Amino acid sequence: MAIRLHRTDGFSNDEGERLALECPYCGVFANMTPQSVPDAAPLIETRPKHVGLVYQCDACQAPVFLRFAIKEFTDDAVHLYRNFAELERPAERFPHSYLPKETELLFREALSCYSGNSFNAFASMCRRAAQSAFRAMGDGSKLRAYEEVIIAQDIAEMDDESFAPIKTIIFDTGDDNLPILNRVQAGILLEVMKDLFYQCFVRRGKLTRALKVRKFFVQEASGDLASSA
Ligand SMILES: [Zn+2]
Repeated sequence: MAIRLHRTDGFSNDEGERLALECPYCGVFANMTPQSVPDAAPLIETRPKHVGLVYQCDACQAPVFLRFAIKEFTDDAVHLYRNFAELERPAERFPHSYLPKETELLFREALSCYSGNSFNAFASMCRRAAQSAFRAMGDGSKLRAYEEVIIAQDIAEMDDESFAPIKTIIFDTGDDNLPILNRVQAGILLEVMKDLFYQCFVRRGKLTRALKVRKFFVQEASGDLASSA
């Protein structure tokens, strides 16, 4: 999608091309309509490297701010590269209420680091969240968690070498041995952490709640039977 900001004609893009992305507010993959577009004239005069445009989400009408790099200036127009940076990323979702209080706090902060593209801050917070989870789960929990992570590695069919930094972050201790992660590795760490916490807390919590409800109904039913007998 080539975008052009013209001195007199304003905003235009390649015919028929629409911009769509996952909205950071409603989470829907929606079309975005230009809402606030800068004037070309002052840009042509000051020649910045980047420019910001505000789009409106077609699903929830929220304003979504995007930053584009400028490709070239002509006498009458500014041409933008098709790639853009999203200044607000959709928040990562997780059923936090199943986590122990401290783990919940640390994992929430980890996820906001990830959404803010701070992948190594994310890695550090994942280690703190994991350590807090192991403390809350008690003796033998680290070994059990390790087994869950190995199962995840197996399902993802990842080799030991590329998976090693993920294991180091989750299971090692100390501040001096955190590997530096890139975007792809951080994405893998994110999915492994979510799966680990799901297996250790969410699954157990959901099952416990469901069984409590079943027990309650069984007791109610046998109470009814007893009183009608
Ligand atoms: Zn939206």
